[in-house]
Amino acid sequence: MQHKVTLIPGDGIGPEIIEATKRVLDATGVKFEWDTVIVGQAAQDKFGAPLPDNVLESIKENKVALKGPVTTPIGTGFRSVNVALRQSLDLYACLRPCKTYPGSPTPFKNVDIVIVRENTEDLYSGIEFARGTKDADSLAKLILKSTKAKIKEDSGFSIKVISETASRRIVKFAFEYARANNRKKVTAGHKANILKFSDGIFLDAAREVAKKYPDIEFEDVVIDALCMRLVRTPGQYDVIVLPNLYGDIVSDLCAGLIGGLGLAPGANLGDNMAVFEPTHGSAPKYAGRNKVNPMAMMLSATMMLRHLNETKSANNLEKAIAAVIAEGKSVTYDLKTDRNQPAATTSEVTDAVIAKLKEVSRAPESN
Ligand code: NAD
Repeated sequence: MQHKVTLIPGDGIGPEIIEATKRVLDATGVKFEWDTVIVGQAAQDKFGAPLPDNVLESIKENKVALKGPVTTPIGTGFRSVNVALRQSLDLYACLRPCKTYPGSPTPFKNVDIVIVRENTEDLYSGIEFARGTKDADSLAKLILKSTKAKIKEDSGFSIKVISETASRRIVKFAFEYARANNRKKVTAGHKANILKFSDGIFLDAAREVAKKYPDIEFEDVVIDALCMRLVRTPGQYDVIVLPNLYGDIVSDLCAGLIGGLGLAPGANLGDNMAVFEPTHGSAPKYAGRNKVNPMAMMLSATMMLRHLNETKSANNLEKAIAAVIAEGKSVTYDLKTDRNQPAATTSEVTDAVIAKLKEVSRAPESN
């Protein structure tokens, strides 16, 4: 069977890690028909929009996309294509497994955490009021009138929106994921002690939903304490469900625990669509240098293969990547404990994964 998949190479390091990932996917023997589309600055220049309609149409039709990272201009310019894509397609759950592979450069040897990040609201709702505008002034006046709080005139506003509907939906997703994947515990991170009317809703929803899953342990933890505990005793965490911004930050924290962003895959999932992409961004300073680690992108592809029920190929590809990490010879600079040691290039890592894939596919126990 041939899978039709939307391919978004992205920019920065995106095109080279997507190319590497296509090569290893080819080597699994699974057949793909790629519908390649462009987004970001290139699409802005060509079509006048950073996320053109044809991209959304392609994903709606194919239901699955493999995506490289896309640069977002800082402070000015167009809003994030990544956020817009998740919101436009209601890809409400961002799933980011963080697992230590033997041989990866980290003192934490037994991390196996799955981050479930709410993907559609919170401070990413895109509701902002620039300082010095009429709207910002009206908002400051409204706040003064209703709360007596005096806002400094040179303030801007970014609005945090948390709904019960989205909170319940993401917590339910986390518990269903835990149940389906034989996970034992769900931890909800929040700051409801301070943000009573936003994180308070998330926390209440989490506690309510948790009651329906008595077979799975539940705990809630204030986000700052959670960050500290994650660094001290990461082994005690299993599935962690978080509102959007904390989910973004804790994903990178957990990537750090397992040896860096080069090993952290991800998926954005809706009820009937899925976009697979690594946690990391477009690392523009490394673009075109054949230097970065393609493994986070490749591991995102293993998640895609599982989603497409190509389980055997997914397992083989993950085993091949793990074997290359364990051997420690053909790995990029980020997986070297001593950065002065010679490191493999992106394409050499890809060659090594393909060679291992041939070995694991031949091994009798691979199934
Ligand atoms: P980044 O993840 O791109 O890079 C941070 C650093 O992490 C890099 O400088 C590099 O040292 C390291 N790194 C990242 N990926 C690596 C890899 N595969 N191998 C080895 N090292 C790697 O984060 P940033 O610099 O904050 O963001 C750059 C751009 O990417 C920004 O425009 C940002 O908005 C965008 N971004 C996009 C996505 C996405 O497309 N989903 C996600 C995050 C950031």
